[in-house]
Amino acid sequence: MLQSSASLPTYDVIVCGAGPAGAMAAAEAARSGLKVALLEKQFLPRHKTCGGGMPMTMNDFLWDLAPETFVECQITHMRHSWKYGDVHLGAINPPGTSQPMSLWMAQRPLFDQAMARRAERAGAELRDGLAVRSLTPESDGVLVRAEGLKGGAEWTAKARYVIGADGANGVVVKATGLRKKQSIAIALEVELPHRWGDGHPSLTPEIAHLEYGAIDRGYGWIFPKGDHLNIGAGLFRPDGNDPRRERSVRGQLQQMVFDYMDAMGLKYQADDLRFHGHPLPLWSGKEPRHEGRILLVGDAAGLVNPLFGDGLLHAVKSGHIAARAIAEDQAADYTDRLHGAFAADFDAALQLAKVFYNWTGICYRYGVKYEKGTYLATQLLCGDLHFTEMANRAIARLKRSAGANFFPAWN
Ligand SMILES: Cc1cc2nc3c(=O)[nH]c(=O)nc-3n(C[C@H](O)[C@H](O)[C@H](O)COP(=O)(O)OP(=O)(O)OC[C@H]3O[C@@H](n4cnc5c(N)ncnc54)[C@H](O)[C@@H]3O)c2cc1C
Repeated sequence: MLQSSASLPTYDVIVCGAGPAGAMAAAEAARSGLKVALLEKQFLPRHKTCGGGMPMTMNDFLWDLAPETFVECQITHMRHSWKYGDVHLGAINPPGTSQPMSLWMAQRPLFDQAMARRAERAGAELRDGLAVRSLTPESDGVLVRAEGLKGGAEWTAKARYVIGADGANGVVVKATGLRKKQSIAIALEVELPHRWGDGHPSLTPEIAHLEYGAIDRGYGWIFPKGDHLNIGAGLFRPDGNDPRRERSVRGQLQQMVFDYMDAMGLKYQADDLRFHGHPLPLWSGKEPRHEGRILLVGDAAGLVNPLFGDGLLHAVKSGHIAARAIAEDQAADYTDRLHGAFAADFDAALQLAKVFYNWTGICYRYGVKYEKGTYLATQLLCGDLHFTEMANRAIARLKRSAGANFFPAWN
């Protein structure tokens, strides 16, 4: 029997999805005194397809959380390669730099669980194993209908605001007219159990590995974790088409992962490896990110950096911005606030991505291998340097260095 909306449980905010974006939004909204429900489709902790690399500036959003509980390695160097050769070991903190930086290698299940539990401690009602199925906007709020996993009970409630934090394949966006045209990258990863000392000598807990030439318009990585390596590959600048529909893409990415493991002297049983693939919704320009009482954050809002393919810090930042906008009764300003925080930098990153993924070889030679390249990339990831400051300088440097080999037009 249908319940009348007057008799339903009510909230100020229902957050759909307890990834980093949703958990941050729920924690900030709850600590601002709002009544919050945080709904998560899966039971926590759960696997999340991700490299788990994050800049240490994530610390600004951790509050009382201790990074040691989910950060397993701290990166000091990046080992770059072109077609598995032409290696360049770049220092994140080369001599002469003052403020030491680091990239953290986190375990996503632990990080996400810690963030969600923190939201609960701040006062949010965390309900995992509950998948949002539909949203019905009304004049004074939004009806949210969800369903328990494995035949669990239905749950319906009403909120003044809904935050869509349900990631790249979420349902919230479908209840709106938002994000009809998306720019999608695709990546996959595998977790290979590892003992330090095996394989290539540069496989150590302080070095992240990045390989550029082996996959066209993308890159591969090996990220160290406590007891395993996270090895993956992504197609970050697909050629116009949605890569999810191209069957051959998954095969190409998997082959690259196998080749990378072989090049690094890693032993594996192909049949034992479990590949996880997932889309990455890339920033593709300014567009509305809220409609009425529904606000989108993180991957649901398309906040993946089009150059590096990172989304964790942006997810958390956008969750914080959405919660603040609602707490300050300024939800109508959300898109403007979000664009204020991201648009200029992401637009500049998009320009760089077009150059980088069209002329990766030239960019590798004159950009990645530049003595300060790793340092500058880390500054960009940390948000200590703005893409707006870098993009023109980097493109000018490439033009100067590559001379007649540089083609300044792109689609
Ligand atoms: C292979 C790969 C490697 C990556 N590596 C990195 C990296 O090293 N560093 C980095 O910064 N970024 C990386 N990213 C990107 C990063 O994973 C995402 O940007 C980030 O997870 C976005 O966080 P989010 O909270 O917006 O979404 P998510 O982390 O996707 O969380 C969404 C949550 O919503 C839940 N959900 C979905 N549907 C529903 C529903 N109907 N009801 C309730 N809950 C729902 C999901 O179960 C999930 O828990 C990588 C991505 C991929 C695919």
